[in-house]
Amino acid sequence: MAVPVRGQNGKLYEVDLENGLCDCSGYAAKGRCNHSAIVSDIFNNSGKRFKWEIVSAFKKEVRRSDLEKAVMWGRCFARISGMKEAAIMSKELAYRESRNLNLFREIKEGKLTDKEIIYKAIRSKKRWECDYLTNYLEDWIEGFRRYYTHREDWNTYRNIGTVLRAFLSKCETPSEAYEVWFFVNGNRQMLRPVLSMLYDRAIDDKNEKLKDFLDLKNTSIVACMIGLELLVGCWSEEANEYHEDIEITEDYIPRFEDYIYDCDSPTGIKRLIKSWKKIEPQKPMAAENKIDLRWSDQHFGLGWRFLGHRQYGSLREAGDDIPWERVDFPMGMWSALTYMDSYFFQEKVYKPLLKAGYEVPLWKEEYGS
Ligand SMILES: [Zn+2]
Repeated sequence: MAVPVRGQNGKLYEVDLENGLCDCSGYAAKGRCNHSAIVSDIFNNSGKRFKWEIVSAFKKEVRRSDLEKAVMWGRCFARISGMKEAAIMSKELAYRESRNLNLFREIKEGKLTDKEIIYKAIRSKKRWECDYLTNYLEDWIEGFRRYYTHREDWNTYRNIGTVLRAFLSKCETPSEAYEVWFFVNGNRQMLRPVLSMLYDRAIDDKNEKLKDFLDLKNTSIVACMIGLELLVGCWSEEANEYHEDIEITEDYIPRFEDYIYDCDSPTGIKRLIKSWKKIEPQKPMAAENKIDLRWSDQHFGLGWRFLGHRQYGSLREAGDDIPWERVDFPMGMWSALTYMDSYFFQEKVYKPLLKAGYEVPLWKEEYGS
């Protein structure tokens, strides 16, 4: 069997699965080229070598709603970890990056096959594409600011249950909702109590959307965020929309794009540390270090996606992603998001950065003192 692999130069090569020979010029001997190495790893080695890259690539293409590439990586992922695992990750990504209540319900009711879950998660409209969330970044930053300002109170209340109940009954804006979320995120033992309080509020407020959502009984921290958004009426029908379906006739292993190397992979973290000083708003990212954070889970990527969509109405232009430097990223927002990023990625990114000699914010240590 011949397995097609997209080379870094864009050309499609074929690797013979039986003997590992590849038809790229120059290295047509067993195991001598990257194409042969990735095919052998996926088919004969359960992805032990390239798992980080494959999983990261799949996540990025789901975020990009690129049906063809996401399906290609999804097949690689399913081959090394099973279709079930790929569907579970797709469901998590759907909760994280979309607000598609119809999809959540269909998954919960068991109406979809694993393959359908994967396809729908890829095609589902992402949150930065929803008009009703156009001020998400401002609300998110303000929610964090509020939590940061009130953190002493939040952490010293003796009757936290009563305080939370009172807070939720007055909660009206997304930033107030996010303030609660930040508290719960840092105090996970409060996750289930808060979900239960939200349920009571849904009944009292006759908030059917919130009640239906909580009836899905997803008890993740992301579900708590969606529940809090629904509490303050932050949702619109457009969140249930999908990108166009296309027929997938291709079957190949895509190439590794620079954007798969972020904090999701060990190689990405190395590149991130090396390029750290060159990661700035409106300036080309360190291309020589092959770093590209547009589709990363880190707050730089999140900011770029929301701002880019707001400024251009789409993150694609003539088939390509808008360049990083074309998105206008206000400095105040950049600083706030960097600080918040250190709250979420302290262990994974900011401690290694500190160790490498960079001056970076470290949320938890500062917070503890
Ligand atoms: Zn080759």
